[in-house]
Amino acid sequence: MKKALIFGITGQDGAYLTRFLLEKGYRVFGVSRDAQMASFRNLISLGIRDNVEIQSASLNDFRSVLQVIKNVEPEEIYNLAGQSSVGLSFGLPVETFESIGIATLNLLEAIRFLEIPVRFYNAGSGECFGNTDGRVADEQTPFRPRSPYSVAKAAAFWQVANYREAYGLYACSGLLFNHESPLRPPHFVTRKIVKAAWEITQGKMKRLHLGNLQVERDWGWAPEYVEAMWLMLQKEEPDDFVIATGETNKLEDFVNDVFSHLGLEWQGYVEIDKTLFRPTDILSTKANPEKAERVMGWKAKHKMRDVAKMMVSAEMAGNESYGINSEGEKNSYKRH
Ligand code: NDP
Repeated sequence: MKKALIFGITGQDGAYLTRFLLEKGYRVFGVSRDAQMASFRNLISLGIRDNVEIQSASLNDFRSVLQVIKNVEPEEIYNLAGQSSVGLSFGLPVETFESIGIATLNLLEAIRFLEIPVRFYNAGSGECFGNTDGRVADEQTPFRPRSPYSVAKAAAFWQVANYREAYGLYACSGLLFNHESPLRPPHFVTRKIVKAAWEITQGKMKRLHLGNLQVERDWGWAPEYVEAMWLMLQKEEPDDFVIATGETNKLEDFVNDVFSHLGLEWQGYVEIDKTLFRPTDILSTKANPEKAERVMGWKAKHKMRDVAKMMVSAEMAGNESYGINSEGEKNSYKRH
């Protein structure tokens, strides 16, 4: 039985990846900064909390990283931990850099120090490309990061590439574009919109305040993206991949879809709030995930319209308690 160790197991991707690996027959170990106090809501909502072993470790504490890897002796390590909100990173630049840049370096150093043949996946980000000015970003496109978050992700990307080249580590970065699900916390814009639209239909909320609706993003379905992470570690040689749907939409289109699914016209409920605009933002980004399909056979099945629809269905059914399988189909309800 292969052993996988997931840093950031309590997050959206951590929960879906755990379910995916359990289905593949892995023994899954997880790391949280505080395994006593952490919320295991995502794992619980997928019905898999009791199938994983979780330990406490801080990625900024080299000794604890070393210890947990030594204890578990995994074949695969997935680094999904860190401050993951672009918006928040403007207010928490140091925290963001330390939890992504320094944390990734600690992991790479621990693997190098232990001299173990482990395969390492690092959560990179399509945010590193910045504005692509109508061009389509692929693995050769230079980075032009536009937030403290993407600066940290860019640094971590190059650390991974450097350890692969300098020390022969099997280490990969996935340059993942936005991927959403009912497990997204409500401070992320997609879930914020879905939650608010549903609450408006229930008379619990009247207005939704949003920032720039003209920004364009590539939105995919998170349960599919975790398969790409795993596929990266199954190849003979380590490599980096852009993971995206290849389709770009305006945030306004997402808002429109969500409100329409609930029988509402969004213009009557949404207010543009300039205080929610970011100091620097990416206006438009386009991705080319062709290499992922050609080399790994991975292709996104669900695009923005499906994502909006599935998130609304989940919200109506009780959001996180609503199980959605990796194909985006309804599972049974799991209430805890
Ligand atoms: P989440 O925010 O849902 O989960 C990240 C986990 O990291 C948390 O559950 C938390 O675990 C831990 N964490 C949070 N803040 C910190 C911090 N300041 N320092 C250390 N650990 C922290 O992220 P996702 O699951 O959505 O994303 C997984 C990874 O993929 C992240 O690195 C993210 O930046 C990256 N990514 C995500 C994209 C997306 O669209 N979802 C797109 C591209 C990249 P605990 O509290 O248990 O320690």
